[in-house]
Amino acid sequence: MHITAEITMMRQLRADSAGQTWGFVPTMGYLHQGHIALVHRARAENDWVAASIFVNPLQFAPTEDLSSYPRNLQRDVEMLVDAGVDVLFTPNDALMYPPGFQTQVMVTAVSQPLEGASRPTHFQGVATVVAKLFNIVQPTRAYFGQKDAQQTLVLRQMVRDLNFNLELIVCPTVREADGLAMSSRNAYLSPEQRHAAPVLYRALSQAQTAYTQGERNAATLRQLCQHAIATEPLARLDYISVADPSSLAELEQVGPAGALVSTAVYFGKTRLIDNVILGD
Ligand code: AMP
Repeated sequence: MHITAEITMMRQLRADSAGQTWGFVPTMGYLHQGHIALVHRARAENDWVAASIFVNPLQFAPTEDLSSYPRNLQRDVEMLVDAGVDVLFTPNDALMYPPGFQTQVMVTAVSQPLEGASRPTHFQGVATVVAKLFNIVQPTRAYFGQKDAQQTLVLRQMVRDLNFNLELIVCPTVREADGLAMSSRNAYLSPEQRHAAPVLYRALSQAQTAYTQGERNAATLRQLCQHAIATEPLARLDYISVADPSSLAELEQVGPAGALVSTAVYFGKTRLIDNVILGD
């Protein structure tokens, strides 16, 4: 595996195989099996696979966990080698945001609810760094996780609106045995909080079961989730949403387009998100 922190080197490696397909998995590192599932899919579908590790300061608010975000490059490298990655791109802040940097990418409507309401500058930071990474790596296909459902919608919109010449592929959420969605931020949880955290998926699963049994009223589905989360004293609900899976507009009834049921929950200072899709 080539490891490079240089944009020029990344571009050179890409240019050397111009006629071949490249799959790309952008990450913030501290990898887990959710990231590795994206790499496996990219490996299966492309001649070359690139991954990136960059903890993007632009997507963290000043109050958030940028400085404490978990890092372990050596372990990440081992996991990526095992998963068959060809190139790992690890730029630093100065290279990505040199003095004088002043362009940002803002995706409007779909960035605003849910995560955007709780983290107002987050998706602008995400869209900006992913646009830069797409321009540097120039992948044929880019792989993202359903765990960050709104992120996939924001980036899909950006790809369409800015005519990026690539296919964006969304892969299913990988979970721990007890249902907790894998996340680098799970490392922040105390043993008690870790024990409590599967309540997110339990709550979402209750909505899914009710939907399967015929419930279509969105308020009822939201309430079911709210009650489930309220049973866990360590959990503090940020939001629970039953929304149109494309526009993210909150629903009154779940119609033929189905719904995205998503939630954000605090355990102490740690904020976890998860979601399920209703419909097929
Ligand atoms: P991150 O390093 O958290 O920015 O995540 C990098 C990519 O991995 C994003 O596309 C995430 O959606 C994806 N990802 C994170 N956790 C999971 C998971 N549990 N299952 C599938 N994909 C995931």
